[in-house]
Amino acid sequence: AKIQGRDNYQFFQTAMNEAAVARFQLSNRLRNALDNRQLILYYQPQFATTSGRLTGVEALIRWQDPEFGLIPPNQFLPFAEENGFIHQINDWVIREACTQAQKWVSAGLFEDSRISVNISGQNINFKRLGETIFEVLKDTGLNPYHLEIELTERVMMEKPDEVCHTLSLLKQAGVSIAIDDFGTGYSALSHLQLFPLNTLKIDKSFIDNLQTTANGHALLQSIIGIAKSFNLRVVAEGVETDDQRLALDGMACDELQGYLLGRPMPRELFEQRLLTDYNQ
Ligand code: C2E
Ligand code: CA
Ligand code: CA
Ligand code: CA
Repeated sequence: AKIQGRDNYQFFQTAMNEAAVARFQLSNRLRNALDNRQLILYYQPQFATTSGRLTGVEALIRWQDPEFGLIPPNQFLPFAEENGFIHQINDWVIREACTQAQKWVSAGLFEDSRISVNISGQNINFKRLGETIFEVLKDTGLNPYHLEIELTERVMMEKPDEVCHTLSLLKQAGVSIAIDDFGTGYSALSHLQLFPLNTLKIDKSFIDNLQTTANGHALLQSIIGIAKSFNLRVVAEGVETDDQRLALDGMACDELQGYLLGRPMPRELFEQRLLTDYNQ
């Protein structure tokens, strides 16, 4: 038993070291990815429910690795959030998104549209984040009206006072504030009152429930009603089928986003669509 105990211990030690080495390698790889422009943004369009016009686009990060190909965010963001590298990623995403959006605005292709950027991580310095956003807006010349930032309640609730202060400054300047994945995890209606918001993004699970649960309609309608009572713009996420779209048509949901209307796509393809379908 003694020997086995030692073996287990050695095994554990080795496994720990391997995990540490793996984390270290991933850290370096991710840092390199940012430096070598292997982190890229995909763009997913959002449309007005009634007119069908393009209203905005959500920027969604991807890791284009020369060896492993296109890596989705859920495979590296949790790690980046854990080790703090997410802060550099947040900054990069803001700058990249605003730079591209200003190009589209200048080309007359994005005049009434907005680009949405996801911000996540623990221990975010919101004061600094706000300053970064203002600096990027100034550097790129993008009118704040064209920018929206998306935060989950979890991110907002870590430092509610600091978040409120920064979001108020941004909102006053014209930047839109969206609450993301609404209705999941940490949701509370009081959050709608607590934070300065413009937009509520209804989580995909509620759209899925339209078909799968008896009271899915009623639940979705109630959420939209509450959002409207707070004067929020409502976006439905993850719309995949015609039935879902039809159901949403009868509700006061302002905008739709999902595979049915358009998948996240590389910049080149999105720009091609801006020149054609999206600006007719
Ligand atoms: P999210 O912010 O809720 O983004 C929506 C996710 O749903 C995206 O996944 C999008 O591709 C996917 N989606 C959109 N429409 C549909 C649909 O009709 N059906 C299905 N099944 N999925 C749909 P993605 O791009 O893999 O991103 C996953 C999450 O990673 C995002 O969830 C967000 O939390 C995070 N993320 C993505 N990009 C960034 C970023 O640039 N910065 C930060 N901090 N987080 C990001
Ligand atoms: Ca989002
Ligand atoms: Ca979401
Ligand atoms: Ca999400």
